[in-house]
Amino acid sequence: KELPADPILENSRRQVSEACFSYVTPKQTKKPELLHVSPEMLDSLGLSKEDTKSDDFLKVFTGNKVLEETKPYAMCYGGHQFGNWAGQLGDGRAINLCEVENKGKNWQLQLKGAGETPYSRNADGLAVLRSSIREYLCSEAMFHLGVPTTRALSLALSGDQVLRDVMYDGNPAYEKGAIVCRTAESFLRFGNYQIFAARQDDKNLKVLVDYTIKYHFSNLGEPSKDTYIAFFKEVAHRTLNMIIQWQRVGFVHGVMNTDNMSILGLTIDYGPYGWLEGYDYGWTPNTTDRQHKRYRYGNQPNIGLWNLLQLANALYPLIEEASPLEEILNQYKTDFENESLKMMCSKLGLAIEDENDQKLIQELEDVLHLTETDMTIFFRSLSNIKRENSKEVAAIKSAFYKPDEVVGNIKKRWNDWFMMYTERLQMETLSDKERQLKMNAVNPKYVLRNYMAQLAIDAADKGDYQLIDELFQMLKNPYEEQPKYEKWFAKRPDWARHKVGCSM
Ligand code: AMP
Ligand code: MG
Ligand code: MG
Repeated sequence: KELPADPILENSRRQVSEACFSYVTPKQTKKPELLHVSPEMLDSLGLSKEDTKSDDFLKVFTGNKVLEETKPYAMCYGGHQFGNWAGQLGDGRAINLCEVENKGKNWQLQLKGAGETPYSRNADGLAVLRSSIREYLCSEAMFHLGVPTTRALSLALSGDQVLRDVMYDGNPAYEKGAIVCRTAESFLRFGNYQIFAARQDDKNLKVLVDYTIKYHFSNLGEPSKDTYIAFFKEVAHRTLNMIIQWQRVGFVHGVMNTDNMSILGLTIDYGPYGWLEGYDYGWTPNTTDRQHKRYRYGNQPNIGLWNLLQLANALYPLIEEASPLEEILNQYKTDFENESLKMMCSKLGLAIEDENDQKLIQELEDVLHLTETDMTIFFRSLSNIKRENSKEVAAIKSAFYKPDEVVGNIKKRWNDWFMMYTERLQMETLSDKERQLKMNAVNPKYVLRNYMAQLAIDAADKGDYQLIDELFQMLKNPYEEQPKYEKWFAKRPDWARHKVGCSM
């Protein structure tokens, strides 16, 4: 508890200065009901399935009971939203309950949607079932995909009704309230540091950075300018790795504001995210970003860099030297090129390095954009190619949304690409079977397609929670063949076209 806490012990909305967090009490809810618990997360916390049956478990993870000797709190942070400084934001609907140490790891437990905090601004501090299902399913799915992420322990109904929209006829539209307990080693974001820098509060900036290093980057050593530089370098490295993994699996975050960038390089804040269906650099799931498409798939790496620049600015008062920070930012660009190439080569099953690979990948990305091609199905099917005989586009035709369009010049470009690719495969030393195994370990078969989450939400709205469990089970093994879930290895159905994520 080295971090300064807000001295005003009540939940009223306000600017909270000179404090990293405020103590808050979660809201009592009307009729809490547990819908799902992640067995893997339970195990990581040292809890058993038996524990989840107790009344205490339900109450604690819906905010209806505060564990003895714990003091829940909400964190103060700021952030750049869509490129503009937005001032104080903070945990408007997230409340940290406590920290659990198990098997040498620390886990913060945090409720999302458990009521207002000093940072709730003009919103209610609550979450609805649809956004909670999306966060719960996707964060665990990302973990199983091997993407650094915050996790989820439980999904519960609060029993309260939450007002989200006013219908066109002026009538209020209520939705079921829900609470997710999410977990991470830390929920600190770039915005936690930015807020102190913006307020020129170097004293607390240093307190927070030193705390972060001591508890989360202890290998970097004692606080000093060099340590702060090493800290920034490590954050840049982790951010880059996280985004490479997003690109690999086709995840589009949708709202990469600096308050949604974890200092540990974890995917955080599952709001309007979406999964690529057609491989499209220009796609974003965020309907509020349709004009500029700032957070589109192809721009995620650049935004990572832009966000790191904002973090560098925030840390500058502790370092007072621009060049080491600039060097790290420049390195990000080079590293990104290299890591991106490596990642794409792994998706294509190219283990041996060849100077023409960049060109092969560029041409592939160009043809993928010529006609709507399902990313997941394309890369997964590619591992079926045999070195000797699959020299044409027919091998992956199930990935096309509009097969009729793959004619003439487009068909020729595809066939040319396959010629190049199969020729390139001759250079590889692994057998077809071995290469397939390696490719299938980086090209998932099952991801949480946007319409799947929507189906689970629609059923849950009617009180049927079975599909949440089915998707949860399937997404535990995204790289395995799972015959009983084969129906989910399919293109988005037509009705779901242009349906996108939701944020609140
Ligand atoms: P996001 O766009 O989800 O990153 O949220 C931006 C800011 O709005 C954060 O400070 C959130 O805590 C806050 N916020 C989002 N939804 C709510 C809500 N329903 N009640 C209170 N604060 C919210
Ligand atoms: Mg957020
Ligand atoms: Mg959010």
